[in-house]
Amino acid sequence: MTGWPYRRIVIVGGGTAGWMTAAAFGKTLGRLAEIKLVESDAIGTVGVGESTIPPLVNFNTLLGINEAEFMRATNAAFKLGIQFDNWKDVGESYFHSFGTTGKDHWTAGFQHFWLDGLQRGHNEPYDDYCLELKAAGASRFAHLKDNGLNYAFQLDATAYARFLRSLAEKEGVMRQEGRIATVEQDSESGDVTGLLLDSGERVEGDLFIDCTGFRALLIGQTLGSAFEDWTHWLPCDRAIALQTSAVRPPVPFTRAMAHDAGWQWRIPLQHRVGNGLVYSSRYLDDDKALERLLGNLEGDVLTKPNHLKFAAGTRRRQWSHNVISVGLAGGFLEPLESTSIHLIQRSILRILRMLPNGRVSERDRQEFNDQHHQEMVQIRDFIILHYKVTNRRDSDFWRYVADMDVPDTLAQKIALFRETGRVFRRNEELFQENSWVQVMMGQGIRPHDYHPVARKLTDAELARLLGGIRESVSRTVAELPPHADYVAHYCGAPKASAA
Ligand code: FAD
Repeated sequence: MTGWPYRRIVIVGGGTAGWMTAAAFGKTLGRLAEIKLVESDAIGTVGVGESTIPPLVNFNTLLGINEAEFMRATNAAFKLGIQFDNWKDVGESYFHSFGTTGKDHWTAGFQHFWLDGLQRGHNEPYDDYCLELKAAGASRFAHLKDNGLNYAFQLDATAYARFLRSLAEKEGVMRQEGRIATVEQDSESGDVTGLLLDSGERVEGDLFIDCTGFRALLIGQTLGSAFEDWTHWLPCDRAIALQTSAVRPPVPFTRAMAHDAGWQWRIPLQHRVGNGLVYSSRYLDDDKALERLLGNLEGDVLTKPNHLKFAAGTRRRQWSHNVISVGLAGGFLEPLESTSIHLIQRSILRILRMLPNGRVSERDRQEFNDQHHQEMVQIRDFIILHYKVTNRRDSDFWRYVADMDVPDTLAQKIALFRETGRVFRRNEELFQENSWVQVMMGQGIRPHDYHPVARKLTDAELARLLGGIRESVSRTVAELPPHADYVAHYCGAPKASAA
């Protein structure tokens, strides 16, 4: 179509954010737009981001991606949740799984029935009522009908960007390599008009998507969108990432192991394992952090340590003038709950829903920025929860996070659950009731009370309900094949790329 004033779309940056945007825009807009992606091989990408959450399955569907092909190309394994070690107390673990636990009643979540069961002598753990959790523990997996198992992926981030690039290029997205030296703006409106590359070439556009990572070249450096700093709640500001060889078949879950100044991730893929130490530079120096990471690895080290610096927070304006940020350019929350790729996906879908027609509406911009901010705040609160509710007081780091004041929104959620066992999901919040319940109980909260509707059941009815769910979970898990066998059969990567 001619005459659309936003026809020339420039995606600035070719990391996961850039290529996810390019693939989705190419697929959705087709010949309506002329899409160009600019990236610099010399600058490169952040090179991490391997653990995901279930909505990525929907994103892949939207792009028409064949799942087995995508998993083969990215050496991916399935993921059913995250195992948290040493968070409540050193030596204790819990699991935050995808999916649901037990069966909710419309008035009250399953936890109320479980809590009532405890009073009546049913002492089986809450975990026994969750299929994803028990399947993860047994390292079993299969696609079940009616989305019976809720899953995500553990994938190779570099291979994922490569895979998306080939999709995007098939949809007509053009790639331009080169380092951007200058961002040009209209002297009156302040809108970005073009990018001047080191080579002297100029890339002009009508709408710019800033995917330049932590540099935030357009949204931050050029347009000055302010950064809202949350490091007083989330003091981790460094990470060291490296890859190791696999010492066992991949398990379908990520591990987050707390240490005395942060935590360590372990993400098993088909052919190797991604590892990283996240820490607060206020409580641990870089040399000690590396020593700690190297001292807690399995397998041979395959890559040089990748040192990363970051700050928790978000830009208040994700959309400013004719620039919209996607990915790390717009803000960052540490990868404890694997939410960054999801936030990229959300921003992309939001842009596509709010594409301007004749001119940018200030209302659209406001709505976009408010929605993104709310989403970040909700995820931020969920991540802070893991630090705030803990029995750990064994280091300055843990004493700080356990004693800090938390946002009112989170304080209310914690107090409500502690007093009543209730959790409410607000405004399409990403993490549902069951996620909050699993993490709050895992971190050590046992509610003082529960919903009276649970008392309505007779002893026999309650026993039948609880026993029936446990039996169905354990029967289904026993019927599932080992995860590694299923992956090898469904999407085993060719040996050459598994080296
Ligand atoms: P980048 O990968 O940094 O890409 C930036 C792009 O901009 C590059 O192509 C670069 O060349 C280009 N660029 C920059 N400046 C210029 C210039 N002047 N000229 C030309 N090009 C330029 N997310 C998850 O969902 N799960 C995880 O498990 C996870 N773990 C993480 C662990 C850590 C320690 C960190 C820091 C992040 C993690 N993330 C995770 C987040 C995830 O890595 C990012 O969201 C994702 O990689 C997107 O990054 P990006 O594309 O925004 O930025």
